[in-house]
Amino acid sequence: MDRKRRNNGEITPVSKSREWKLLYHEPGRPGLEEGSEYRGLCMYCELRKTCALPRPEGGVWRCENYIAMLRKVSLYEKVVKQLEEAVDVVHFDRDICKILAATMNELIVNFPVKMDDGGIKILTGYRVQHNNALGPYKGGLRFHHSVDIDEVRALAILMTWKSAITNIPFGGAKGGIQLDPAEFSAGEMEKITRRFTYALGNNIGPEYDIPAPDVNTNPQIMAWILDTYMSTMTPNERNRCSHVVTGKPIESGGSQGRNKATGQGIVFLIEKWAKDHGFNLKGATYIVQGFGNVGSWAARLMKKKGSKLIAVEDVTGAISNSGGIDADDLADYVKDKGGVLDYPKAKPVDHETFFSTKADIFIPCALENQITTETAQMLDVKLVAEGANSPTDPTGDVILQRKKIDVIPDILCNSGGVIVSYFEWLQNKRSEFWDLEEVDRKLYKKIIEAYERVRDTAEKFKVDWRKAAYIAAISKLEKVYKERGIFP
Ligand code: NAD
Repeated sequence: MDRKRRNNGEITPVSKSREWKLLYHEPGRPGLEEGSEYRGLCMYCELRKTCALPRPEGGVWRCENYIAMLRKVSLYEKVVKQLEEAVDVVHFDRDICKILAATMNELIVNFPVKMDDGGIKILTGYRVQHNNALGPYKGGLRFHHSVDIDEVRALAILMTWKSAITNIPFGGAKGGIQLDPAEFSAGEMEKITRRFTYALGNNIGPEYDIPAPDVNTNPQIMAWILDTYMSTMTPNERNRCSHVVTGKPIESGGSQGRNKATGQGIVFLIEKWAKDHGFNLKGATYIVQGFGNVGSWAARLMKKKGSKLIAVEDVTGAISNSGGIDADDLADYVKDKGGVLDYPKAKPVDHETFFSTKADIFIPCALENQITTETAQMLDVKLVAEGANSPTDPTGDVILQRKKIDVIPDILCNSGGVIVSYFEWLQNKRSEFWDLEEVDRKLYKKIIEAYERVRDTAEKFKVDWRKAAYIAAISKLEKVYKERGIFP
């Protein structure tokens, strides 16, 4: 360890090694008691700093410099930092953490597609397979202009944690194509999807890597992927591979309840949170960002609990109505018009007004990094239920903690999608069809078990729920690696 000790007891790093940081943060060290103010070095800070941020609950000590540094890092780096923070609390095996910080396979494909006007467009698609220690790679496909290798890597890692905390036998993967779907006709989207599937070839497969819907992809796109994949198989194999994708239309082997699964999981968890906090959902108010698959289902299912939707934001704009917005009616409107803009039964509001709306619950269901320093300061809610992947940036996270806003973190909160994908995969393998009641019952059991696992971990290590979710996931993977060892 490379360090020197000053007379006043302050430790100055002369190396940036993580070893130093871990040693410094040995639990129980004098001066690091719960809630104490410590003027010295932040456990994560790469810079030598004197900061006075009160130590939040649990063993985490982060200064503003560290947070500022995180703001500049990519989504992938952010996810790896979150892994490191969890490792710092529990002292997981560092070699296993090295494995988990890296992705196993990364595929980038450039493929030509003939457009409606006869011209050729070259598109870029990605598939990143993060880890398959627990089972086949599993994760969605996103069609969005922001898709790049960094984003896909980060989202693939989150999938591994999600499968691990929900105890389902899948690993983590993610993929997508960098495009804006609004620029293409339906026919072009079909050709793009099929050509991408062909380019992926045997890098996906029902027992190897199983895609599913994500932003701007849906059951129709899954049906095209299935059909293309099947068409490349021999006649004998063709009917044995319907589980190469999940989130398919019911008629093509999809599961009852998969379309609403992510929203359903969110609402099961909000209900559980409400029960644990003696909070009545009847008459409670909520706001939703993103009104696609996840957001619209979460909003509609919250309506069934008697809660009142009072503001919604999507890519087209934001709307508000303190008297309540009918989520089913809005879903019909969005289906027809493509967004919430100009919805006649609510007034248009700007981004700041949306985020400042006083409500009991905020359900972000759009993209990553929406809850930032600025927007977290505006939020006036009791609970953030993260439907989207990584909707909170590190600075936003600290502010939520300071404001004592509860957070159900993404890898737990939106895991209903992958849980019911697993059910769909099982049904396909066994040639079974479960009814909706059975799917919902099994989803409830799995997701509530995951909730309890995260809650108990948070209590045990005295950490926030995000870190607890990471710890629960990594503990499981660490055990598996220790049992099996590293080949050869
Ligand atoms: P979707 O394409 O159906 O909907 C996305 C929504 O986000 C749309 O309403 C869109 O208008 C809105 N949006 C996009 N950019 C926005 C912006 N800048 N500001 C405000 N709103 C914006 O996608 P989805 O499947 O509902 O996925 C939403 C989130 O949930 C993503 O983070 C995704 O990774 C995550 N997720 C989805 C599933 C699933 O089963 N579909 C499962 C787990 C997690």
